Amino acid sequence: MTAEGHLLFALATAVAAKRYDLTPILSAADWWHLIPACLLTSLLPDIDHPKSLLGRRLRFISVPISRIFGHRGFTHSLIAVFFGVLLLVNKLPSDLFIPKDVIQGMVLGYLSHILADMLTPAGVPLLWPCRWRFRLPILPSSKYPQPERYFCIVLLTFAVLIPESMTRQWVAVGTQQMNQTWQQWAPLFSRLTHQ
Ligand SMILES: [Zn+2]
Repeated sequence: MTAEGHLLFALATAVAAKRYDLTPILSAADWWHLIPACLLTSLLPDIDHPKSLLGRRLRFISVPISRIFGHRGFTHSLIAVFFGVLLLVNKLPSDLFIPKDVIQGMVLGYLSHILADMLTPAGVPLLWPCRWRFRLPILPSSKYPQPERYFCIVLLTFAVLIPESMTRQWVAVGTQQMNQTWQQWAPLFSRLTHQ
């Protein structure tokens, strides 16, 4: 996905996360904290590509990462998210205070990049160093940026326009369906596990 696509996707993710209460902190987040934090990290995983927007500006970091891990390797995995969070929470100087909504916004931006890349044919190695590629290729590769641009704009429009009450209703219906399905299957599971 292109840098423009990632920025639009991250913006849509941030709006949706706050409006639809993804976490209590994101729900109460300050827009001026959340949006910049989310956009800031939404391009970070592509530091592993020296020709990416960030890679061109930070070649001294980008080139070695690209040589060691290759493009869409470690930086596009859950282990990178884990180390990033660990670093943010534990290793920053104690006098440097970062609000919780900024931290969650940064994690959200990074995750939005990985999720967006999953929608392209190349997919991402979520469980790196395992080589499995996780993908749901509903978008073409970044050689054809037009479809992803429209897709991200539609996503952003939905995130801004769909009323919170409607998504709460969808979540409630989804939860009810899951409960019903579980109640139907639970006896079978318990029989299988007790044999
Ligand atoms: Zn990427």
